[in-house]
Amino acid sequence: MKPIYHDINDNITCIDTQHIRKDFVAAYLIEDKGRAAFVDTGCYLSVPTLLATLDEKNISRDAVDFIIITHIHLDHAGGAGELIKHLPNATIYVHERGAQHLADPSKLRAGVIQVYGELFFKQFLGDLIPIEENRIIIAKDDGEITVGDRVLRFIDTPGHARHHLCIWDERSSGIFSGDTLGVSYRKFDTEKGVLIIPPTTPVQFDPQEWKETINKLMKLKPKYAYLTHYNRIHFDQNSADMLTQHINGFIDIAKELANTKNRHKAIKDGLLNYLLDITNKHGVTLDRSQQVKLFKGDIEICAQGLGVWLDRNS
Ligand SMILES: [Zn+2]
Repeated sequence: MKPIYHDINDNITCIDTQHIRKDFVAAYLIEDKGRAAFVDTGCYLSVPTLLATLDEKNISRDAVDFIIITHIHLDHAGGAGELIKHLPNATIYVHERGAQHLADPSKLRAGVIQVYGELFFKQFLGDLIPIEENRIIIAKDDGEITVGDRVLRFIDTPGHARHHLCIWDERSSGIFSGDTLGVSYRKFDTEKGVLIIPPTTPVQFDPQEWKETINKLMKLKPKYAYLTHYNRIHFDQNSADMLTQHINGFIDIAKELANTKNRHKAIKDGLLNYLLDITNKHGVTLDRSQQVKLFKGDIEICAQGLGVWLDRNS
């Protein structure tokens, strides 16, 4: 297995987990003084590429002290159970609302199979391995760990999901943001900069909490966000404003279409039009069919999440 990874800055590596497609789902490797930590893991099928990255970088498996899970959605945490089997000294840090699902992933598995089917689960996610409880530690808000001499701080960040945490890396002035600081694909970069959109994923999307979380994170005055989808971006107040604007844009679409007959399809169409409009204004020249292809998965998930949110608030 040939790993694909990007050495970015300050001993941080962005690993392409090669889940679904390239340049889509990242895991991160943070190093200092011969010690290392993973942030997120991709899914079960991503584990060989994570291990191959360690091998290529001559990092021994004994040197990995931590696997930090931003939240338990499977593109972030699905590989944790398999990965930790190969890392004898590692413990897992996870939000308190996610811990039980890592120890016993049966509910997660059933949920995914219910939504996507057994075939998708096997083909794209592979498997889910339970983790021994003594290797799982709850990451408390404001709690810190050190990788070598490098301090990483956990921040409780509800909004995308209630089991979401972010990690503040003071050394690089960067936030490992999971899905909390949005999704931004490099193919939509233009001279105007990056395009950031909100993954309004089911079942815990909460726009109000999310906006409060973004404000809380901006108080750190970050320079970078290390996004799961995808790679590092510069992140400043304009980025935060763009993300907030599109959270509002997405919920406006959902509210407007709340009572339409085929609501899910209508919201999907609404989101697609909205996204094509913002890429156009952003100066994206990628042809329409390619944009539709890149957005397809996100639109499906976002529409589902908005539907759940409408039902919860009706
Ligand atoms: Zn997520």
